[in-house]
Amino acid sequence: MGRFTVVGAGLIGLLVSGAPARAQAPDTVLVNGKILTVDAQFSTREALAIRDGKILAVGTSADLRKLAGPRSRVIDLQGRTVIPGLIDSHLHAIRAAETFATEVNWIGARTLADALGRISSAARAMKPGAWLIVAGGWNVQQFKENRRPTQAELVAAAPDNPVYVQLGYGWAMLTPLALKTLNIAGDADVPAGGRFERDPAGKPTGAISGGQGAIIALFDKLPKPTFDQQIDGTKKFFRELNRLGMTGVVDPGGNNLAPEDYQAVFKVWRDRQMTVRVAYTLCGQTPGAEFAELKNLIALVPQGFGDDMLRFNGLGERITAAMNNNPRPTDADKEQYYQIVKWAAERGLSLTMHWNNDASVGQLLAIFERVNMDIPIAPLRWSIAHLNDASPATLNRMKALGVGWTVQDAMYFGGDGYDQQAGAEAARRVPPVNTGTKIGVPIGGGTDAHRVASYNPFTSLQWFLDGKTVGGVAIRGAEETPDRAAALRFYTLGSSWFSFDEKKRGSLEAGKLADLAVLSQDYMTVPVDKIHDTESLLTMVGGRVVYAAGPFKSLEDAR
Ligand SMILES: [Zn+2]
Repeated sequence: MGRFTVVGAGLIGLLVSGAPARAQAPDTVLVNGKILTVDAQFSTREALAIRDGKILAVGTSADLRKLAGPRSRVIDLQGRTVIPGLIDSHLHAIRAAETFATEVNWIGARTLADALGRISSAARAMKPGAWLIVAGGWNVQQFKENRRPTQAELVAAAPDNPVYVQLGYGWAMLTPLALKTLNIAGDADVPAGGRFERDPAGKPTGAISGGQGAIIALFDKLPKPTFDQQIDGTKKFFRELNRLGMTGVVDPGGNNLAPEDYQAVFKVWRDRQMTVRVAYTLCGQTPGAEFAELKNLIALVPQGFGDDMLRFNGLGERITAAMNNNPRPTDADKEQYYQIVKWAAERGLSLTMHWNNDASVGQLLAIFERVNMDIPIAPLRWSIAHLNDASPATLNRMKALGVGWTVQDAMYFGGDGYDQQAGAEAARRVPPVNTGTKIGVPIGGGTDAHRVASYNPFTSLQWFLDGKTVGGVAIRGAEETPDRAAALRFYTLGSSWFSFDEKKRGSLEAGKLADLAVLSQDYMTVPVDKIHDTESLLTMVGGRVVYAAGPFKSLEDAR
């Protein structure tokens, strides 16, 4: 007992003690697979053994079968591809989850007719008169009809329900019943910065358009799901992510997300029903009062507090309202921001900040550099989200600071607009992930779902590889197109870096958490334009089956 022996040349890294064999047998052994380990060499293995939530070994089917004891569950993968569980490094999951059971989802609808059909079926499925809310996650180019819904179409789809359909953060269509319920009769009732859209004849279309602030305020007028609905939505949303091979998210807080909005995920965590690992951050909410709010919120929550299912990961994505999506902050705005992030650095907090373009990101980097003169920020793993047109100079500054870059597939929806605005030459290099990799900036994959993007990781992975917008226009050039292995690495090990987890998960190696997905098709060989159709047939989090379908369905039922 207590004597350790290395067993089998094929089981590098596996240590088995002299204890009775049964006590050491794996809980589960996956055999006959094509296991993409995403280790340093991107090795492919046949088999993987799991014990106590962790990977015991990877190797050949023959070698790992020998480890199995009478109680081990042996799963024959029949040649299927296995990947480390996908991790979105910038997904507003807590917010999306809260409303997932009560919203209508247009993600992935290929036609407007299909999207409107989802409204009709929701009207039938929900209580009479319930609000039907599409909170975003779609765009016009995804529809064959290539246009937005009209008010009349929404009324026809659900005549007896108030209907609200938001597009990005600039437009929302409401049915007459929705407007009446919210007491919005004219422009004076619309939140500041917004107004009724009018057709060429001057007649209101039913939509409200305006700046982000107006649409956020408009959304805040909608009824909130009850706490039970939020819990239900949270579980359903995490299961939906599991269906798509996801096992982790880094959640950057966001708009419309107050402290009370975290209570549903906290409850699911306390009930030990989490099926996705969440690293969450906290945002300042009230313009001008952010420092006091953050000090108060974080007084009793140290960086890293929590466990492997739910962990506090610092500040972001909004630190102050004044610096939020503002390319021209004043000196006072920057000083206020500096004070907060210096305080964060002193407390050892990580931080993520979204910034949209390279032209103005120097304002943010200059603040980070100023903090870094007193307190090295590299160990804190601060990060910047979006930044689709990052220049080599910016990426070099980030590298020097140890700041990471979370990359989203914003150009999947926004690429056509970017192409028109910045030109084809500039569009060829958005986002410049190969340059970022060469420079050595930590890169995570992700989506920014669910208001402005789909959360489907396979849509994002496909977009990494073909640079095509949802309308099918290829805008990115070969020089910034990663290969399949690199894209998968961004979405797994790359993303795990942002929550300090790259030694625990993100690849399938002995000693790491058994977070993985068995795929419906081979990610490495299926035609690129089919990658978005991939689903998981079996998703495990810490060795536990959290989703199973098709040939593996019985594994879930047995639990
Ligand atoms: Zn975001």
